[in-house]
Amino acid sequence: MSDNEIDPTTPRKNPQPKVKTIGGRQLKPSTLMMGHGYDPTLSEGSLKAPIFLTSTFAFESAAAGKRHFEGITGKRPGGADGLVYSRFNAPNQEILEDRLAVWDGAEDALSFSSGMTAICVLLMAHASQGDVIVHTGPLYAATEGFIAKWMSRWGVSYIDFPAGATREKIDSVLDEAKAKAAEQGGKVAMVYLESPGNPTNALVDVEAVRAAVDAAGLECPIAIDNTFLGPLWQRPLEHGADIVCYSLTKYVGGHSDLVAGSIAGAKKWMDAVRMLRNTMGGICDPNTAWMLLRSLETVELRMQRAGENAAKVCDFLAKHPKVEGLGYLGMIKDERQKDIYDRHCLGAGSTFSLLLKGGEAECFRFLDALKIAKLAVSLGGTETLASHPASMTHLSVAEGRRAELGITDNLVRISIGIEDADDLIADFEQALEEV
Ligand SMILES: *Cc1c(COP(=O)(O)O)cnc(C)c1O
Repeated sequence: MSDNEIDPTTPRKNPQPKVKTIGGRQLKPSTLMMGHGYDPTLSEGSLKAPIFLTSTFAFESAAAGKRHFEGITGKRPGGADGLVYSRFNAPNQEILEDRLAVWDGAEDALSFSSGMTAICVLLMAHASQGDVIVHTGPLYAATEGFIAKWMSRWGVSYIDFPAGATREKIDSVLDEAKAKAAEQGGKVAMVYLESPGNPTNALVDVEAVRAAVDAAGLECPIAIDNTFLGPLWQRPLEHGADIVCYSLTKYVGGHSDLVAGSIAGAKKWMDAVRMLRNTMGGICDPNTAWMLLRSLETVELRMQRAGENAAKVCDFLAKHPKVEGLGYLGMIKDERQKDIYDRHCLGAGSTFSLLLKGGEAECFRFLDALKIAKLAVSLGGTETLASHPASMTHLSVAEGRRAELGITDNLVRISIGIEDADDLIADFEQALEEV
């Protein structure tokens, strides 16, 4: 066969990087972000991946087309060998997914049009009628709502436990979930975690959850929303989680200019998610995927700088007479929470709660006086953002539940960006004078 002919029986492989190790040294994610998963020779030598605006892909031959569909439809395990149709996958998204998998040390990753699409598809792919989902509380409000209000319509129930729960508490919740599932004729479908919780920053002991799930003999995945600390400051797959989910809208995208999400983890649990995404759609679009490739080249730099800035700002705020307290992972007082932090976290992040002396009126005066920090929800962008959860993101949460979660009227939520730290301190200082 000549060089120009393509053997139709050989599946087209995703372009792989030529260099993953040098002299036995495994290259770091920050190095791999510049080339991993992209082969310039397939795109006229273009150094950067072009944006592939196409809905469909030409097959090399009829036999290759058949083979692709065997993968897509699940007749053959492992998914498609090549590109077929852009609801299933496309070049920018595949490169993005390969690079996202690198950060978390995952076997497989999938991109989505939003963090919530990723989470909803993950939950639906694994839960059936009669099943029970065990989850930590608090969760991101839309996730909690999806499980409680939508999954319940399809006969899936849930049991939640507080983020900071001990091993004993986790054991008893899993026992309860097993009994409930048996009663409903289903199974425990998933243990779903979010750590740290929003806006309390309560950390989940992922290692204890892993041990409890194994001890209970449960055959279900442990998933964790790693949006607040990932991919830099927390690596849950190394602590026993099977799947990580992200709102890439936050630190990974990092410029407050896109909405996207992802799931990464063991193939064993990802195949069902891929099949459902193939059916429903919900894959990230090529433009957004391209922007995320650009973002991933600087994610380590941005997160490092934001983390350093947050440490300096919190040092200043902690000493201020108008500040009652800080919910910052770099200043944990609770011994058990500190122990979880030491075992699971590689950094304190840049999103925290500021408790002012006073209530809503004091918080509003503070927020309205800020000159650099923008008044907006969301987090993880290059710019510093501040909001008031009790009257904004968590307004719809019942007052009793809000109190339980520690979302008080004097709590301001802050996400520190990559500005100059002393400028930020000057801004917070003058705004506190207005309180
Ligand atoms: C923002 C966020 C989500 C939802 O992500 P979207 O991209 O807005 O859909 C989920 N979990 C956490 C922790 C978040 O902060």
